[in-house]
Formats: sequence, C-alpha cells, structure tokens
Amino acid sequence: MLVGDEPHLPYDRPPLSKELLAGEWEPDRAALRRAPYEDLDLDWRLERRAVRLDLGRRAVELHDGERLDFDGLVVATGAAPRTLRGAPPLAGVFTLRTLDDCLAIREVLASKPRVVVVGAGFIGSEVAATCRRLDLDVTVVEALPVPLVHALGPVMGEACARLHLDHGVDLRCGVTVEGLEGDGRVERVRLGDGTAVDADLVVVGIGVAPRHGVAGGVRPGPRRRRGLRRDPARGSRRRRGR
Ligand SMILES: Cc1cc2nc3c(=O)[nH]c(=O)nc-3n(C[C@H](O)[C@H](O)[C@H](O)COP(=O)(O)OP(=O)(O)OC[C@H]3O[C@@H](n4cnc5c(N)ncnc54)[C@H](O)[C@@H]3O)c2cc1C
Repeated sequence: MLVGDEPHLPYDRPPLSKELLAGEWEPDRAALRRAPYEDLDLDWRLERRAVRLDLGRRAVELHDGERLDFDGLVVATGAAPRTLRGAPPLAGVFTLRTLDDCLAIREVLASKPRVVVVGAGFIGSEVAATCRRLDLDVTVVEALPVPLVHALGPVMGEACARLHLDHGVDLRCGVTVEGLEGDGRVERVRLGDGTAVDADLVVVGIGVAPRHGVAGGVRPGPRRRRGLRRDPARGSRRRRGR
C-alpha cells in the first residue's frame, strides 16, 4: 500500500527547477517510472495524508479517517520548504517543492515577471538560471557572503557567484530579506541594507525542514525509538551529485 498526499503518481523533483520550469518538458516526462505500475501490485492512496501513527496497534490513520493496518511501515515523508518568517500572504510568492508548485510558478513566468529569488542554494540558483534562460530580469538575494559556501566551499561558491553574474543575474550576497510588500500581490522585496527590489514573482528557496509529523508526535530518530528506525543510508546530510 502506498500513501501520498500529492495527487500525482511518483515523479522526479530535479526537473522541477530545470526543464519543467523552463517549459521544455511537460509533467509526464518527469514520471519516476515509465513502465505501468500494475506489475508492482500496489494499493494506492493518493491525495491522502497520513495524520496519525498508532504503533501499539500497528495502524496508520489517514486524514479522511481511513485506518490502514500494517506489519511493516516505511515513513518517507521527505521535507517541506522553509518560508520567510512573518511575510504577509501575497500572491506571486512561491516555494518550489512539488509539481504543482512548479506549474504555478511556470504560469507566472509566462507573463515575463521581474523575478526575485530568495536564497542562492541549489534550488534558488537553479530557478535563477532557468529564469535567466527565459530572458527574465532576475535578482538573487543571499544572506551568506558567498553562495553555496557551506555545501561547496568558498572557491566553488565564488565560481557559482561568477556564473550568476556572467549570466546577468543581479546577485546580492551578504544581505537578508526584511519584508515583502504589495497590495494583495507582491510588488517589492525590502532588504536589510535599506534597499528594495521591485518584483512580480518571488521564489523563496531558503532550505527545507523534515516532514516527520505523520507519526502523531513520534519521530524517526537516529536510534530505534518506539519501533521506528531511520534508514542509515539517509543519515548523511550531504547532497548527492546533481
Ligand atoms: C526543485 C527541486 C530540485 C531538486 N533537484 C535535485 C537534484 O538536481 N539532485 C538531487 O540530488 N536532488 C535534487 N532535489 C532533492 C530531491 O528531490 C530530494 O532529495 C528528494 O525528493 C527526496 O526524496 P524523498 O522521497 O525523501 O522525499 P520527497 O520527495 O519530499 O517525498 C515525500 C513525499 O511524501 C509526501 N508526504 C509528506 N508527508 C505526508 C503525509 N503525512 N501523508 C502522506 N504523504 C506525505 C510528500 O507530499 C511527498 O510527496 C531537488 C528537489 C527539488 C524540490
């Protein structure tokens, strides 16, 4: 049995900031599996959220009340994007995690918006690069003095910064976002250095937080804890090669 709260069959996320966002691919190309799923003999529960885990009774409860009994359980709930704390709920402000996020951003890109990307990590950098390929005005705001310095080190980080600049990105490092402004829809991003950047589209790429709320407060931990065990292969925080 496979439970997932998204409406789609499993897909690859990497193209969401690249080919799919650029409009070069349509969603079916990002499908995780090309062959039909019948041979896997899965019992699907799509668009269904697991909300409670009863380890004593070995059961998972879904948001609509359905209860699924199990002998073995894998919790693979991934991560959710962080958002800007205190930012007002303005149209035109997005995070990018799901296919639906990607398609919503793509729709806005068609109107040739001025783009501000918050965060020059992997996803922010990829979104910025894709938007520049679409010939859009792109500003990237990064709190660190050098992009990707924690993941790649200062030399490669500087090389990435140079790539952004060479491709026409307005890269602002060492500065934070103070606030988003607009009347229902985002109009500008206020920065910590007292400047502001006009924006029609803001993509916030400031990292993710693990989604392990499924278990009704029971979290997968480094050791076996109340019957949940973390896959040791997922223990590293390092990112695989892209
Ligand atoms: C835009 C983008 C580009 C990326 N590019 C790269 C790349 O180039 N290279 C690379 O190595 N990595 C890349 N990544 C990261 C990579 O996609 C992730 O590491 C990978 O998706 C993690 O897989 P996962 O199965 O652990 O979690 P996820 O892919 O997050 O899957 C977890 C699923 O569980 C669902 N879920 C969560 N809670 C519940 C619940 N309670 N009930 C039911 N369902 C639930 C979620 O909706 C989600 O569908 C990228 C990610 C993004 C967003």
